[in-house]
Amino acid sequence: MRQRAFALALLLVLAGAATAADYSGPLFDAHLHYNVEAFDGQAGPHPPADVLARMKRNGVRAIVANSRPNDGSRVLAASPLTRAAGVTVVPFVRLYRDRADYDNWFRDESIYAMVLAELARGTAAGPYRGIGEFHLYDSANANGPVARKLMLLAEQKQLAVLAHVDDAAIDLLMANTPSQGRQLRLIWAHTGIGGPAPARVDQLFARYPLLMGELSYRPGLTCEGGKLCPEWRELLLKYPERFVIGSDTWVNQRWADYDRLMQGYRAWLGDLPPAVAHRIAWDNGARLFGVVEK
Ligand SMILES: [Zn+2]
Repeated sequence: MRQRAFALALLLVLAGAATAADYSGPLFDAHLHYNVEAFDGQAGPHPPADVLARMKRNGVRAIVANSRPNDGSRVLAASPLTRAAGVTVVPFVRLYRDRADYDNWFRDESIYAMVLAELARGTAAGPYRGIGEFHLYDSANANGPVARKLMLLAEQKQLAVLAHVDDAAIDLLMANTPSQGRQLRLIWAHTGIGGPAPARVDQLFARYPLLMGELSYRPGLTCEGGKLCPEWRELLLKYPERFVIGSDTWVNQRWADYDRLMQGYRAWLGDLPPAVAHRIAWDNGARLFGVVEK
C-alpha cells in the first residue's frame, strides 16, 4: 500500500515536472491555411469563430494566413472576431485558386496576373506580405517561367516566400533572384519535404542568410515522448533565429487536431533554453513581419 502511494506520488511529481517544462509563451503560427472546405463562406465546419477560438485557447497571437482561394485569408483579415481574439493576421497570396493549380502554377501566366491583382487589392489587415504556400513536386519546375517571375517579384517587393519544396529546389529558386538568394526571405515549409539531413539544412542556412525553416511535419524532429531528437536540438541551438512553427491546416483534420499540434510544439519547445524557445515560438515570425506582441 505504502509502495503504491509512493509510486502515485512519484507519478504526480513527474507529470507536474513535464507540464511545468512546457513552453508557455505566445505562438506565431507561420503556416496556416484557411481553405474553402474549412469555412465555405461561413457554412463550413470551421467558421471564423471556431478557428479563432482554437488559436486563442492555444496562445496563438499571430498567423501567416494563406488560403485556397485567397478569400479565406481576406475573411480572417477583415473579421472583427480576429481583432477580438487578439490575433494578428499576416496575409500571403496563395498561388492556388483550386487544386488544379498545384501542378501548373509555375508555368501559368494567369497565376502571375492573379498574384499582381491580389497584391494591388490587399486585405483589411494591410498589404500582403508574402507569396505561397506553393509546392514543387519536381524541383526542376523551379525554373518554370512563372516561378522565375515570382521569385524576381518577391525579392523586388520584399515579399516573403512560403515554399513546400525539396533541398534541390531551394538552390534553384534562390538562383532565380537578382541577389542569388542572399536577399530572398524564403520560409521553407517543413524544412524540406523529403526530410533532408540536418547537415544539408545547415549547409543551406549557411549559404542563404534569410532562409527560414518551418517545422510542421518535419521528419526526424521529435523522438521519444515528443521531445527533440539530439541532432535537431543541436541545429535549433545553432540557428535559433532561423526557425518558426506552423500548423499547416491543409485539410480539416488539421483544424480538428489544432490543440494537439500546438501542445506538441509546446512540449518540445520546453526542451530548449527559454530564450531560444521564445524565439522559435514567436520572435522569429514577429520580427520578420514587424508584429508587436500584445
Ligand atoms: Zn501547407
